[in-house]
Amino acid sequence: MKAFECKQCGTCCYGEGGVPVESSEIERIACFLALTPDSFIQQYCQEKHGRLYIASGADGFCVFHDQGKRCRIHPVKPRPCSLWPFYPTLLKEKENWEMARDACPGINAKCSFEDFVRQSKE
Ligand code: SF4
Ligand code: SF4
Repeated sequence: MKAFECKQCGTCCYGEGGVPVESSEIERIACFLALTPDSFIQQYCQEKHGRLYIASGADGFCVFHDQGKRCRIHPVKPRPCSLWPFYPTLLKEKENWEMARDACPGINAKCSFEDFVRQSKE
């Protein structure tokens, strides 16, 4: 039984928090979109507290979220998006995993925390 399988609901692409992007990711995503890094930053990023984040659109979703086609930069999406839900903090603390499980329908509620941790290493 899989401990995680994305249901493509888009919930994790919604919200003001934003997804941080590192400079190597900026180059990769810009290249994928056939943009220069500067154009990519201008069009798709916002700066907060000295860091760059992928911007949110007027609907509150990440600018790359597409209701029909999921993530428009899926092959090159930033690390936090590729890593989810196997974040160190969810692997360490059962309570964090429980909160994530309540928020993300892709985390299998029939699997135990131990299964989740074990499958993260596979
Ligand atoms: S909230 Fe979970 S199931 Fe929904 S899109 Fe995000 S990872 Fe997939
Ligand atoms: S980059 Fe893609 S996966 Fe990450 S929040 Fe934006 S739409 Fe979602």
